[in-house]
Amino acid sequence: MTDRKKGFNSTVLHSDREGKPEHGVLHKPIHPSVAYAYEDARELAGVFQNKRKGFAYGRQNNPTIEALAQKVTKLEQGLGTVIFATGMAGIGSTLLALLRQGDHIVSSAFLFGNTNSLFNTFRELGIEVTFIDATDVANVESAIQDNTRLVFVETIANPVTQVVDLVAIGDLCEARNLVYFVDNTMTSPWLFLPKTAKASLVTNSLTKTIGGHGNALAGSVTDTGLFDWTTYPNIYDTYKNLDPSQWGITQIRKKGLRDFGAALAPEAAHHISVGSDTLSLRLDKACANAQAIAEFCQAHPKVRRVFYPGLPNHPQHERAKTLFRHFGALLSIELDNAIDCFDFLNKLELVLSSSHLGDNRTLAIPVAHTIYYEMGAERRASMGIADSMIRLSVGIEDTKDLLADFEQALAG
Ligand SMILES: *Cc1c(COP(=O)(O)O)cnc(C)c1O
Repeated sequence: MTDRKKGFNSTVLHSDREGKPEHGVLHKPIHPSVAYAYEDARELAGVFQNKRKGFAYGRQNNPTIEALAQKVTKLEQGLGTVIFATGMAGIGSTLLALLRQGDHIVSSAFLFGNTNSLFNTFRELGIEVTFIDATDVANVESAIQDNTRLVFVETIANPVTQVVDLVAIGDLCEARNLVYFVDNTMTSPWLFLPKTAKASLVTNSLTKTIGGHGNALAGSVTDTGLFDWTTYPNIYDTYKNLDPSQWGITQIRKKGLRDFGAALAPEAAHHISVGSDTLSLRLDKACANAQAIAEFCQAHPKVRRVFYPGLPNHPQHERAKTLFRHFGALLSIELDNAIDCFDFLNKLELVLSSSHLGDNRTLAIPVAHTIYYEMGAERRASMGIADSMIRLSVGIEDTKDLLADFEQALAG
């Protein structure tokens, strides 16, 4: 094929056939082999020494996983990607690979609950974390210290849907030479490319919208190529014999994936890869449904508040409009005080009570009682999470059926 730059969908659909596809296959085959043999033992040594491409042991890479990594790299328009067993494995392993005792990171205070929990563990290990309201770059700037290495944010926060000041923080990180690590899970590369906001590293929980079918866990970390790793103090000498563009991603693969060992199974990579074929179609539909539900709930007298960036009264609506293709498939609502949130959830017939997000099916969860229970009332209040808040991860059902379900559950 000619090297013309293809659109998003053509890129996803034909990614597996690049290079020399085995037997002309359309999908990259599932390779279960853990180990690889070489006719010339020098080749094996070359793989270990990062002097030639190849596979050595399944914990570091595998042809099926590598095909998925290349697909994610293309979607994020990055330099390279490391695939992990889960999204959390990607975030945790990467940060442990890049940070040392005495380092400091600045993080959005509005975070996926388990990332918040992980960052609290980092504090116990001697890595300082400052949580700030990242909807305003000024808060990031005033949190930066001499030992700050990295800024971590999510594109749209969950469950209150704050939209981070992504571009201004990218400019700040560039000016202060900090690694800018963006969790793109809520938007995916179909709605937003963090590289356009100067992200250094992008993580996606592939478990969510990219896989989309709730049948496999996986995570990715992509180096966008924008950060100059020769200026980063924590790169180990052993990786400095490589092309400098590879220093960061190699340290993430070796010190992160290899040493912590959270490798994805090739069968799961196949599921994620097949799911990603329809990412844009699914997300277009889910975002349209989310907008319709948000507008319906906003107009309903029994719903007190609706949090969705697609509503004109959302505090960052204008920002979301300029940054994202659509406003996302996740919204939260607060019901009227007279309604018990569990009764409401039990009345829903089509919408399922479930913790997942980014699925084809619409899922609802009372966040304070479940996914944000462990963090405690005080931290929940600081994140704007009310006890009656229900998070909705909107799927691709028929719009009229979803609206009818909300209507009947709120009636009476
Ligand atoms: C789910 C999620 C993760 C973690 O992904 P897993 O694959 O479940 O480990 C990280 N960040 C965000 C924003 C998420 O929604």
